[in-house]
Amino acid sequence: MKKPLMRIPYTELLPPPAIIPHTARSLPGAIAALQEFLHAPPPRDDLPRSTVVLTGAGLSVASGLADYRGTNGTYRVNKTYRPIYYHEFLANHEARKRYWTRSFLGWTTLRKAAPNAGHYAVRDLGRLGFVSSVVTQNVDSFHPRAHPEIPTLELHGYLRATVCTSCRGELARDVFQTELARLNPMWDTFLREAIATGALETEDPHERRARGIRVNPDGDVEVPGAPYTTFRYPACPRCLSSPPTLADGRRATVEVDNDGAWSPTSNAGILKPAVVMFGESIADSVKQAAEQAIDGAGKLLVLATSMATYSAWRLAKRAKDRGMPVAIVNIGGVRGEEVFFAGLDPNQTGTQGVRLEMSTDSLLPALVEQLQQPLLRNVEASAEAAAFLENDAAVFKNMLQ
Ligand SMILES: [Zn+2]
Repeated sequence: MKKPLMRIPYTELLPPPAIIPHTARSLPGAIAALQEFLHAPPPRDDLPRSTVVLTGAGLSVASGLADYRGTNGTYRVNKTYRPIYYHEFLANHEARKRYWTRSFLGWTTLRKAAPNAGHYAVRDLGRLGFVSSVVTQNVDSFHPRAHPEIPTLELHGYLRATVCTSCRGELARDVFQTELARLNPMWDTFLREAIATGALETEDPHERRARGIRVNPDGDVEVPGAPYTTFRYPACPRCLSSPPTLADGRRATVEVDNDGAWSPTSNAGILKPAVVMFGESIADSVKQAAEQAIDGAGKLLVLATSMATYSAWRLAKRAKDRGMPVAIVNIGGVRGEEVFFAGLDPNQTGTQGVRLEMSTDSLLPALVEQLQQPLLRNVEASAEAAAFLENDAAVFKNMLQ
């Protein structure tokens, strides 16, 4: 029997990485190693030439989003923060009220955040023909926004929609947010004030904390002592108009209060964020699509993730097992990373594997610039050739006259 693939946090401290090749400690050395990696033909003829990219939370830190591990220096994860688990969300009305209050407060800031130079560099790597697809653990939708032309598999789902736990119907998060504001006018006022005073805007986590607000990953905002119990959230509109059938064959009860808020007398129609929550299984279709993305490439480039969740780690392991060279760019250690670099020739310069400890938002644009150089030279050369041919044509024309 196949084991379900669950999203579970991994909290062990990871040892610092060994940089590969050893010349890649400096920025020029790192760029040279990645250039070698991307240009190298795959080690076997049956592997495709292209590279698949696997990304994690560190890539979005430069967009102002919190990282689970806080490895990029300026951000530190709130140590007392514990994300909600799927089974709690499903089982407990109070837990859902608490989750949606915090998510309600966090959405506006998350909605305004945008992809950064790292995401656009991935787009450019695609345009240059090096990257064929992206698998991301991030739920911020920055990859599809930055490069809609490169296929992106969102391994842990996305926050841009909610999904019904009964009928699987999706509702845009913006629509859901408007409903939350309507059902919770006092919270809406609080949110507007927090936005007006800039309490949610500040990038400095200490300042935020001083204002009594804590911002956690995945758009979770914590206001200590807040009365979460009064919060109301809407029911799935589809299940409300047509209650689904339960597993035992009975028709489900979906009820709302006078304003349309989900009532605890219901046994269906609960909306959840369209992300894979901790403790929740990844859908088989998503798991298979991620495996296909790995199998469709000849190399794997891992960006800004410690691969703490097994769902991501096993994809990298799959790439390694297929004989694909692996490059990892991450500040801080990566779970079990020695596996990916076992048996490399100590004198290789990046064709067999690369391990860098650098920030993606400075490294990747510099890499793209370097990769574009020969192309620019080609463009110049072909412009010269065109000018030459034009002159030549004029000469021939003169000869014919
Ligand atoms: Zn539904």
